[in-house]
Amino acid sequence: TVVIKVGGARAVDPAGALADVASLVDSGEDTVVTHGGSTAVDDTLERLGMEPEYVETPSGVVGRFTDEDTIEVFEMVMPGLLNTEMVAGLQSEDVDAVGLSGVDGKLLYGPRKSAVRVVEDGKRKIRRGDHSGSIKQVNGDLLESLLSDGYTPVVSPPMAGADEDGVTPVNTDADRSAAAIAGELDGTLVLLTDVPGILEDPDDRDTLIREVETPEDWTRMEDAAEGFMGRKVMAIREALEGGAPEVIVADANIDQPVATAMEGDGTHVY
Ligand code: ADP
Repeated sequence: TVVIKVGGARAVDPAGALADVASLVDSGEDTVVTHGGSTAVDDTLERLGMEPEYVETPSGVVGRFTDEDTIEVFEMVMPGLLNTEMVAGLQSEDVDAVGLSGVDGKLLYGPRKSAVRVVEDGKRKIRRGDHSGSIKQVNGDLLESLLSDGYTPVVSPPMAGADEDGVTPVNTDADRSAAAIAGELDGTLVLLTDVPGILEDPDDRDTLIREVETPEDWTRMEDAAEGFMGRKVMAIREALEGGAPEVIVADANIDQPVATAMEGDGTHVY
């Protein structure tokens, strides 16, 4: 089983990845595709006259604050626009793709968190009204029944967030969604992004860290990862702890990105 996450960065073109997914599926490999699309959400918010809001937590992690309007746009753009286009793109490659958000069949399920600790102007505050959550459960049965019937699931956020009122769609990180799925299915996770892998020096594409296995390798990777890459490293850890045998971070913007990654390109983490 292989779980492939196609990066949401503006600079990522999914065409190569979709052709590779078609070859994998054709060879009989159980393949699940996942995607994000945070930049597309920001674009749409701006077109609607709203401003994307990012907050910093006391530990220095930057994340989106997802208010009521933002989660609605999230629902329109992720499972609406992006997922539908990706499913159609795969069908053009003769893959029988089926789109699902994390809400469908409670594919990605966990508690909603509405209060977040933030730092604003150097002061710690609690912000309420956030629509986000963390995944505690993956509906692996749903994915496996689709796979065994020959379908290729294409999964996007939001996830199903539980609170005192029931279930509500909430934001969750796309890398961590992919990691949770790979863990549940014990599959190899391939994170395709806009860089050749995790770089020792983020500004130098010739400093690729090829393998991460020992604690020393892990420290090296964690020290190198800045900003959003730090969140990816968290997702890598979760996938491996969940049961994935291997996680690969590799370039989406080359010919045959998945095949090349599985043959050894990119950063391989065990
Ligand atoms: P995606 O949208 O594909 O998930 P992200 O923007 O979350 O990608 O993460 C990829 C980005 O992480 C790169 O474009 C790069 O700017 C940044 N980055 C930070 N540290 C590193 C590093 N050590 N190696 C590679 N990229 C890094």
